[in-house]
Amino acid sequence: MVVVIGAGLAGTEAAWQIAEAGIPVRLVEMRPVRPSPAHHSGDFAELVCSNSFGALSPDRAAGLLQEELRRLGSLVIRTADVHAVPAGGALAVDRGRYSAALTAAVEAHPLVTVERREQLALPDPEEIAVLATGPLTGAALADDLLHFTGRESCHFFDAASPIVEGEGIDLSVAFRASRYDKGDADYINCPMDREQYLAFRTALLEAEKAELKDFEQETATFFEGCLPIEELARRGEDTMRYGPLKPIGLWDPRWGDLHDRDVRRARRAHAVVQLRQEDRDGRLWNLVGFQTNLKWGEQQRVLRMIPGLENASFVRFGVMHRNTFLESPELLQPTLQFRQRPTLLAAGQITGTEGYAAAVAGGWLAGTNAVRLVRGLPPLSLPPTTMAGALLSFISDEERSHGSRKGGFQPMPPSFGLMPELPERIRDKRRRYGAYRDRALADLAAWEAQRRAGASGAVPAAV
Ligand code: FAD
Repeated sequence: MVVVIGAGLAGTEAAWQIAEAGIPVRLVEMRPVRPSPAHHSGDFAELVCSNSFGALSPDRAAGLLQEELRRLGSLVIRTADVHAVPAGGALAVDRGRYSAALTAAVEAHPLVTVERREQLALPDPEEIAVLATGPLTGAALADDLLHFTGRESCHFFDAASPIVEGEGIDLSVAFRASRYDKGDADYINCPMDREQYLAFRTALLEAEKAELKDFEQETATFFEGCLPIEELARRGEDTMRYGPLKPIGLWDPRWGDLHDRDVRRARRAHAVVQLRQEDRDGRLWNLVGFQTNLKWGEQQRVLRMIPGLENASFVRFGVMHRNTFLESPELLQPTLQFRQRPTLLAAGQITGTEGYAAAVAGGWLAGTNAVRLVRGLPPLSLPPTTMAGALLSFISDEERSHGSRKGGFQPMPPSFGLMPELPERIRDKRRRYGAYRDRALADLAAWEAQRRAGASGAVPAAV
């Protein structure tokens, strides 16, 4: 018997994989007995906001992840395919039908027992369990989790800045430097003249914002120290220039001699946007201080006005909402087992993955490994050259996800920037993404064949 806590995207997938492998599951879901602040129904795997799983094409990060899950036999993705609605290249679903179909399938499974109640504490260590309670984990369980992990907090008002791919930053405009030359030219700096700055500020002020939910509005008022960039823009013409867009101490040697007063006066930037390295390999860059509540399409439009970011590819947009997630790189193995208690696995947004399909991927692996633990087989990790494997390895690799960061671990969506480099450099983005796709699907097929052949236990723990 395995216990799965939370019948969201991750928990539903995990429970199905376990039951389909012939192992009985207890699936504990608090809705509708105890509603969450964002869900609207008691159905499983409810999509709380957008009805889209992201781009469908496997040449895109979200699409590749969906395709991998399809090939791994994911129930959630299969059901999404059945209930897809036209969405111009994205996998969007009729959310009511999709969620009702998943609930019916799981409830009807002879090996699944559904318990509609709030789980108040972690299960006993003797039980094999999957924790999949998502970003709005019930408060009592979240407290027990803190006690268990020895952390001070796992509730965050998630005010994340956008992340772009390094590849798309125009370094003929932007330059590498640290403020006052401290450090090793660690930042990428995008300089603005006065005219560019004022146009950018106007665009920020006029851009459309996402609505905060009631429970988020309450939380948001406590976070004066972490204001959205559009709020800084609203507070005054120069507020951003005295905050995250401060130009002082930053000089591009291509502008001339810093010590020549005339050159300095003529060339000094009016404002500078800084980007900080997000991953060890320097392929992902975070816009420092750009937490924002603008709608995603608006973020792309306005932030591409920043000199040097005109062609930037956004890996993650800025968000501001309540979120519960673990310091996974310190707590989890790539198999999604807790290091301190290998019988307890975690999946979904609580592990710091971001997005619907990412939660399903975690659920698939945690469910698969719960089965292996029941059978006394070594748990598996997915190949890092697959999108699912790259993401799950990122959130469980302390060195890699924290390697260059000072601000702590932040949730991460699927992205090509997480995957190991290709053997050869391909400049054309479409061809490059195609090559990532081909390698991922080939490696996944080989891994699956080996897994199936080695169902008796011969498969190595990390392929
Ligand atoms: P969930 O889908 O939230 O599932 C967790 C389940 O656990 C829930 O059913 C919950 O009721 C249950 N649960 C919690 N605590 C307990 C307990 N103590 N006992 C029993 N059951 C419990 N992602 C996107 O990709 N696109 C979006 O548009 C998007 N919008 C979002 C908007 C908001 C307001 C929030 C909070 C998140 C949003 N996300 C979005 C992130 C989204 O939550 C995840 O992508 C996805 O739902 C995570 O899946 P999950 O299985 O980890 O969590």
